Amino acid sequence: MSSNQPAWRPPTPAAHVGTMPGYHSPQVDAEVRLNTNEAATPPPAELSARLAAAIGGLAWNRYPDRMATTLRSAIAGLESRTAGQMIDPGMVFVANGSNEVLQSLLLAYGGTGRTALIFEPSYAMHTQIAQVVGCEVRTGPRAPDLQLDAATAAAAVLEHRPAVTFVCSPNNPTGIVETRDTVLDVLAAVREVGGLLIVDEAYGQFAPWSALELVAEDQPLVVTRTFSKTWSMAGMRLGYAISPTWAVAELEKVVLPYHLDSFKQLAGTMALEYEQAMRERVAAVVEERGRVADGLAELGCEQWPSGANFILFRPPVDPQIVWERLLERSVLVRNCAGWPGTEGCLRVTIGTPEENGRFLDSLAESIS
Ligand SMILES: *Cc1c(COP(=O)(O)O)cnc(C)c1O
Repeated sequence: MSSNQPAWRPPTPAAHVGTMPGYHSPQVDAEVRLNTNEAATPPPAELSARLAAAIGGLAWNRYPDRMATTLRSAIAGLESRTAGQMIDPGMVFVANGSNEVLQSLLLAYGGTGRTALIFEPSYAMHTQIAQVVGCEVRTGPRAPDLQLDAATAAAAVLEHRPAVTFVCSPNNPTGIVETRDTVLDVLAAVREVGGLLIVDEAYGQFAPWSALELVAEDQPLVVTRTFSKTWSMAGMRLGYAISPTWAVAELEKVVLPYHLDSFKQLAGTMALEYEQAMRERVAAVVEERGRVADGLAELGCEQWPSGANFILFRPPVDPQIVWERLLERSVLVRNCAGWPGTEGCLRVTIGTPEENGRFLDSLAESIS
């Protein structure tokens, strides 16, 4: 470049982006990866074999079905049973992971000049995506034991009057399942301020109840779910919302056309045929979770009762040192020690029995 050119600097990103920290979940190489709440085991091999055989039949030169008709019907059928009410395919919105569902919801109902309310500690992406779309983020309080108190939560909604309110149940990173009464109280407040309530049920199949039963045309409630956890398909990137049809119509406006590729639509539809295998994996995780909880208690760790496939715990010694010592033993867990509300805590995903055994053995060595 010639020396008489004026000095050049990279262009400045939008103000709300430039100040953002970004998403940091280190993808470290470890033999035992218990840091991102993935399923420990893959879906049935038969599913992969059938998908491999079906690939040749896809019309690769054509755009995918923009309405994802078959997949949405399959999801509606599945969740009608969960919800105990008829879910119409028109109440289903599908996207590339529930993160894209959340992003679409925030694009449609959040944005500049609007507020999102999040009860921390909760899933970091709620805050992150809200900020990306320019939302003002307000934090709602939890009790010291990290429970969500219904009256306090409803009061926070009335105070901040958010366009979008998030409740995560079972909550990540605590594992706490919110009660039906809590969700109803928050929903009533959200309705009063003219906002939208998003209940994130990424771990919904572990919980004893689902907010799906509350979804209705005359309620400002959307429930999001994903194939990433209980369905053992994090690599596929597929999630969905069960929603009033008026919200689906807005979501269809903000999402990119043909965002859901033909293969994914096929894979998602086929994956749902293996519901029984999914239920069995969930049951196996719940059993292992009990064993890990017992092990944590024996090692003197404080922990929260989990309704999901992970446990938040506080080791009796410096969590940073424990995290490093675990990694030295090739066991990777999530370090939540620096997050507001989970000071001193680590989060471990429930893995296979062998992985959990190695985690507990390594933890014992790391604490002593
Ligand atoms: C893992 C997780 C998700 C999943 O996001 P995908 O984009 O579907 O992989 C969503 N919400 C919560 C609370 C999660 O823990």
